[in-house]
Amino acid sequence: MHQLAESIETAGALAGVDVPEQEFVRLLGYPRGWVLKGRVRELADWARDWYTKHGKPWFYARQAESLEFERVAARGDTIRIDGVEFNSKRLRSTFEQAGAHGAVLVAVGAGPEAEEEARRRWSEEKPDEYFFLEMFASAVVEQLTTFAGARLCDWAEQRGMAVLPHSSPGYPDWDVAEQPQLLKLIRRTRIEQFPSRVDVFDSGMLNPKKTQLAVFGITRHRERLQKLTSLVPCESCSFGPCQYRRALYRRAPRTTAEPLPARSTVLDADARYTVNLKALQRWTEERLAMQPGSDGSIDITFRYDGTTCTNMGRPLAYIYNVKLGPREDQYPILEQRCSPAKDDTGHESMCKYLEDPDGLTATIESEKPLNGQRLNAVLEWRREPNAAGCYCDPLSRHHKWGLVLETIHYALLKMELSGEKI
Ligand code: SF4
Repeated sequence: MHQLAESIETAGALAGVDVPEQEFVRLLGYPRGWVLKGRVRELADWARDWYTKHGKPWFYARQAESLEFERVAARGDTIRIDGVEFNSKRLRSTFEQAGAHGAVLVAVGAGPEAEEEARRRWSEEKPDEYFFLEMFASAVVEQLTTFAGARLCDWAEQRGMAVLPHSSPGYPDWDVAEQPQLLKLIRRTRIEQFPSRVDVFDSGMLNPKKTQLAVFGITRHRERLQKLTSLVPCESCSFGPCQYRRALYRRAPRTTAEPLPARSTVLDADARYTVNLKALQRWTEERLAMQPGSDGSIDITFRYDGTTCTNMGRPLAYIYNVKLGPREDQYPILEQRCSPAKDDTGHESMCKYLEDPDGLTATIESEKPLNGQRLNAVLEWRREPNAAGCYCDPLSRHHKWGLVLETIHYALLKMELSGEKI
């Protein structure tokens, strides 16, 4: 640690991070006091052991040289740290109310190892291991931020100052698009080396994603904190042994800016599909297209390529159109349609089509299984297996609708778990 007058810069790697059980349980989506048992217990212990053996957590913190917000009042919610402007209503108002005179820039990370292992588990069709390791790495990031804050509190209290609640790009009132400039600013180290490689995408997402950047204000006006609890970080600080605590810890909401996977995803994360995951992944990549609407709905197209069962197995192609309602409504299936692809002529060779072209076309278009139900319903839909490539038999048509809806479920669940957007 290097201290210049009332300044601080500290960095390093840690041998381990002691994640409290209740914080891990909270991130797994369970209520307060929940006791993990059975398979869930095994998975939680496995994730902790794996990270203890292979994880490489790190931290960096530096007091900024300068903080301005009074003289940039004309710019609304702007604050300027070391000459770099940021726009966060909450950060600025906290700084103003507490009379902050300085800011400490913090970066912490769980390292890339756990993410890579979790990805590997997912590709091996082990979604439970994926989820628990992802969650444990998220808990590590939260603990690192808590430790960084606690260390700053100790440093500040000994100098007659106090630390304010931290904020990060991606929090309410701070656009995640400002993440790149914050990373660039934090990387302007003084004496210490920045401990780990971190990249940032144009979207503001950090890579490795189990990384957090944060800004903590510091103030000499400790008396102001007694009047306003919103200026005190203790309510969301789980640091047990603290001797300066000013407010009771209330189980914190999630604090990392990255969109973490949640067990409480609106899609069933324990989905058991009738199709194997490799096929679902391939169809997601090759056959599925999704277009988000401005009202939260999603328009989806799936192309099915098959062959007729008679007439020498002629190739045919059908297009499935599905409209889903918003995620917050748990993806209700609003519209469904199945019709021959524009350039397809193979469907005209199906025996039922030869018998009654208009009748078969109308029947196919009229069938909308699970319409009005939520997408999760496909997991409960019991269908007779039917591998026929054609559309003559109702069972084969149901079978294909099942493949389509399972692929959509798989694609959306994967996005939810990985934090990707459509
Ligand atoms: S309990 Fe409050 S004073 Fe103590 S480390 Fe946490 S935030 Fe700082």
